[in-house]
Amino acid sequence: MIVDDQYYDVIIVGTGAGGGTLARKLAPTGKKILILERGLFSLRESSEVQDIELFKKERFHAPEQWYDENGEPFSPQTSYCVGGNTKIYSGVLMRLRDRDFESVQHQNGVSPAWGLKYSDFEPYYTEAEKLYQVHGKLGDDPTEPTHSEDYPFAPVEHESHIQIVVDGLSKQELHPAYLPIGINEQGRTDSEDSGISPALKYENVTLKTSAHVVCLYTNPSGNTIKAVQAKIGDQSYLFLGDIVVLSCGAINSAALLLRSQNEKHPKGIANQSDLVGRNLMKQQLSVVIQLTADPNSAMFQRTVSVNDFYWGDKDYRYPMGHVQNSGGILRDVIFSEAPPVFSPISRLLPGVGIRQLATRSLGWWLQTEDLPNPENRIRLVGDKLHIDYKVSNGEAHDRLVYRWIDALKQVESLHPGMFNRVAHPRSNMPIQVVAHQCGTCRFGEDPQTSVLDLNCRAHEVDNLYVVDSSFFPSSASVSPALTVIANALRVGDHLIDRLK
Ligand SMILES: Cc1cc2nc3c(=O)[nH]c(=O)nc-3n(C[C@H](O)[C@H](O)[C@H](O)COP(=O)(O)OP(=O)(O)OC[C@H]3O[C@@H](n4cnc5c(N)ncnc54)[C@H](O)[C@@H]3O)c2cc1C
Repeated sequence: MIVDDQYYDVIIVGTGAGGGTLARKLAPTGKKILILERGLFSLRESSEVQDIELFKKERFHAPEQWYDENGEPFSPQTSYCVGGNTKIYSGVLMRLRDRDFESVQHQNGVSPAWGLKYSDFEPYYTEAEKLYQVHGKLGDDPTEPTHSEDYPFAPVEHESHIQIVVDGLSKQELHPAYLPIGINEQGRTDSEDSGISPALKYENVTLKTSAHVVCLYTNPSGNTIKAVQAKIGDQSYLFLGDIVVLSCGAINSAALLLRSQNEKHPKGIANQSDLVGRNLMKQQLSVVIQLTADPNSAMFQRTVSVNDFYWGDKDYRYPMGHVQNSGGILRDVIFSEAPPVFSPISRLLPGVGIRQLATRSLGWWLQTEDLPNPENRIRLVGDKLHIDYKVSNGEAHDRLVYRWIDALKQVESLHPGMFNRVAHPRSNMPIQVVAHQCGTCRFGEDPQTSVLDLNCRAHEVDNLYVVDSSFFPSSASVSPALTVIANALRVGDHLIDRLK
């Protein structure tokens, strides 16, 4: 093993939404920062040229296998590269609703309260929206929490077919709003452009790519991380630093802690509570497709958010979730995340090829909160990473899907020539869709019921932090990345104080 001859003030592992943002926040401190990333810089195809073929490529699936609870292998849909999953995400950057921070009763259980409130996150959401250039509009969404400042950029306008659906939804007294998205002239903003690249302009920041962190070592008493072991090519290196921050994604950070077990931490580092790797959540996602008679470009942005059913419906008092449109089908991740969704339509419309079908389709993503369950967890069997996972909130999600199809049908009845109503195929997400993973190292005040304290520092290890989506005590129904980014900025302020 080669011991690196440098000593760092901070070592950050992972460059996704959490790690990339934190690097940018800490860079101006002048402290010596090392970033370790297992992937390489990705060749970014512009979002203008993404299409079906690209979504089948390895970039959307990690080049390794994980195992489900029956021991069946699968390729997880996660991206190892500089920028992490923000290099393949859709750029939807939404705040959690303020009630998401409170305890909420769902049909199938309780979503627990966070140790902090929306007001604690609000200034960091505002900072995050500026950093990631979020485009949006306040005032249309009845569930939108208070913003201390307006969105930094005006919303992206709807594509013409989408505008027709939006108008039809408004006639039903629903409240379609502009979806907040991070975007600039190059396409979606991500944690490479908004985090890592600006951080690397500072001489005190070093990035090592292809650096796969495989173990953390503590001091003999177990209360401090002394070294981080990474494999770079065939060689193992030890890196030493004062503060170590993990941001490998909720599943991989938990796996790294479990893998690094030692005499003082026999169940894995920071795992006296036995909660590391447990309470894995991944929102329930479905895609619903509408077919139109006229073609669209299949390349437009996601622009619509509907939260009328977020907290329930007239005849249903439990939360159901969030709806957003897909982008144009050729630039959306539907082909990666919900592959079976087009096959029933192909059968109903024989002779229509997938590309042609894509230009005549409008897609809708439906997202329902997943509830924490300690049995939904990451386990290591030897070197193999197993995920035990059972769906938690199925009834609420089914309600959302049926209610949404009903709303679409009402829109379609207003425009009989425009829509081809052969079907509204729906696709649920299989185990390999771990896009919205969170919750494996939840934060809180009590070391018996949480892994991290409210600054995202491990209760048991003084210099170890985790800033990816692991810290979420509940998953909410909106997309998670803006909350990961805002939290990294919040933890960044704490670390800046600590480093003084
Ligand atoms: C297809 C897709 C679409 C999505 N769309 C949206 C969206 O529109 N809006 C939204 O809010 N969210 C979206 N998400 C989710 C969003 O991308 C994640 O919530 C967010 O990226 C999580 O950030 P993170 O820092 O927790 O982890 P990640 O972004 O996953 O970053 C983890 C990083 O750690 C690195 N790493 C992992 N293990 C190691 C190791 N052992 N050593 C060194 N490096 C390591 C990885 O290579 C990666 O760079 C989407 C996700 C996917 C997959």
